[in-house]
Amino acid sequence: MINKFLGKFSKDVGIDLGTKNTLVYTQEKGIIIDEPSVVAVNKRTDEILAVGDEANIMVGRTPSHIQAIKPLVDGVISDYEVTEKMLKYFIDKVHSESFTLIPRPRVIIGVPLDITEVEKKAVEDAAKSAGARQVYLIEESMAAAIGARLPVADATATMIVDIGGGTTEISVISLGGVVTYKTLKLAGNELDNNIIQFIREEFNILIGDQVAENIKTRIGSATELKEPIEMEVRGRDLINGLPRAVTISDSQVRDALSKTINIIIESIKTTLEKTPPELVSDIYEKGIVLTGGGALLRGLDKEIAQATKIPVRVAEDPLTCVVRGTGILLSDPELLEKVLTPSTDQL
Ligand code: ADP
Ligand code: MG
Repeated sequence: MINKFLGKFSKDVGIDLGTKNTLVYTQEKGIIIDEPSVVAVNKRTDEILAVGDEANIMVGRTPSHIQAIKPLVDGVISDYEVTEKMLKYFIDKVHSESFTLIPRPRVIIGVPLDITEVEKKAVEDAAKSAGARQVYLIEESMAAAIGARLPVADATATMIVDIGGGTTEISVISLGGVVTYKTLKLAGNELDNNIIQFIREEFNILIGDQVAENIKTRIGSATELKEPIEMEVRGRDLINGLPRAVTISDSQVRDALSKTINIIIESIKTTLEKTPPELVSDIYEKGIVLTGGGALLRGLDKEIAQATKIPVRVAEDPLTCVVRGTGILLSDPELLEKVLTPSTDQL
């Protein structure tokens, strides 16, 4: 069945439906959509006002009747209807670029490791009602490993740590399957929260999520930097309610982030403890690969390497590994068959 997977002119797509970002891949054009998983809805009329980048601009700035909804929480669908509409919008966007009549696409879509059957079904249903003819589910860590060009089907172990917005997934892959894993409901968003909390406690200033994320990407780090950096931050003074600016340093931010980073490191160690010794020795030799946006935090690879005594590297373009992995699977039906997660139809 899968062997007839793709016609030459098909517009089948691979999707990374992330808590933070949704990416869509087609064989013809590669990554054609890379936008935040956000939808702006008019609560009075239930009308969708904007999706993706356009909706993201509205986050934290909406009047009371407009709501900017992030329909995924911790990697799973929390608002089914909005997810379906978002997917439909993106899938339609892919197809609106073509003038010919094309059959409804087949879709490969990444899902978290600890997804329940009900949550799986929700993803399949959402993709189907958004226009997919057939839906193939694949574990996101597997897709990330494939996107990072790791030898997932071989008899050697690979450790992938994918740090997204809502979740961190640590997994050991060998012979086309996930052997051991641990998922944490703590990743990039939690790092942002660490910064918000620090600034509130230290300066009595409240900052928004996006300001916190900005601080993290501009001066955030996991190990000491060669040159210290500072940044001016504006927020609302919690005592008098007025705007106020303060300067924070990379070492203050590093301290704030360390709580979450230590939990991630401890979880990597626990996962290694659960992993069969042969595979652990492969991992010591080949190293750990980091994917997801969180992998971009400065010095995170070094910090994990130091704590685990295992070499660590950041995958090339870590934010797009999962979707590129689904893209590789679009053109490799044999590999797809090996790594596919059973559909809920087959149970
Ligand atoms: P998801 O798969 O959950 O949608 P992504 O893999 O797209 O998540 O990663 C999003 C996360 O990566 C966000 O928390 C974002 O702040 C973080 N991120 C993106 N770029 C950087 C960076 N340069 N440094 C640190 N974190 C980053
Ligand atoms: Mg992800």
